[in-house]
Amino acid sequence: GRSILLNGVTKTYGNFRAVDSLDLSIPEGELVTLLGPSGSGKSTTLMMIAGFTTPDDGEIWVGDRQVTQLPAHRRGIGVVFQQYALFPHMTVAENVAFPLQMRGMGRSDCQDRVRRVLDLVELPQLADRYPTELSGGQQQRVAFARAIVFDPPVLLLDEPLGALDKKLRETLQLEIKLLHARLGLTMIYVTHDQGEALAISDRVAVMNHGKLEQIGKPDTLYEEP
Ligand code: ADP
Ligand code: ADP
Repeated sequence: GRSILLNGVTKTYGNFRAVDSLDLSIPEGELVTLLGPSGSGKSTTLMMIAGFTTPDDGEIWVGDRQVTQLPAHRRGIGVVFQQYALFPHMTVAENVAFPLQMRGMGRSDCQDRVRRVLDLVELPQLADRYPTELSGGQQQRVAFARAIVFDPPVLLLDEPLGALDKKLRETLQLEIKLLHARLGLTMIYVTHDQGEALAISDRVAVMNHGKLEQIGKPDTLYEEP
């Protein structure tokens, strides 16, 4: 993993401050959830770290690099969204191989990696299927596999389980936590579900109106100091 540091990060839309001078420091290997109501700036924060949105002000550091000016694919960051956004015309294996091909990896290395990561998410038997042939939970596992296949030190997840039913959510929450422990990635996990945040995170960062309201371990949250 790599540490993540946000220093006075601000994003405005017109006169509206979606993210308002946000400071956030996440040590290497930690799993932090961003928890907060809809519109509190969680996704915008994640998208700025990923490099899909440019902040108006402030600095974003990943490890020892200021990444604010780096394009998304140079930041060493994997991303999983709520809507899995798998390519419908590609098989599972082709979807997962895509980030490796973009980085110019050779065919046989690519195949090895794809096999390993599909084993990791327990879907080796589905390599040749198309996304529409999979359940929602299976599609989300594939999206996860695609996000980690290039060994990114940082993984960002934006409501990754939001489209799934409660039982499946709980199963996948557990799997994500186990994979986090196993891979040693630094992870930021966006959710508006307090139960989910408390269940999976090392620390919970509560956002409101584009600001950090509080941050702490799940058992200290909402307690008076
Ligand atoms: P959250 O993820 O907490 O629901 P977002 O980061 O998606 O919040 O959005 C924060 C605020 O910024 C919301 O009020 C949203 O409407 C606004 N916003 C987000 N993206 C845009 C955009 N591209 N243009 C205008 N307003 C936006
Ligand atoms: P470079 O592309 O400058 O040769 P490296 O070979 O060290 O960089 O890293 C390969 C990829 O890993 C880069 O494309 C970059 O996206 C990512 N990366 C490396 N170091 C960092 C860092 N400290 N923070 C964020 N991303 C990094």
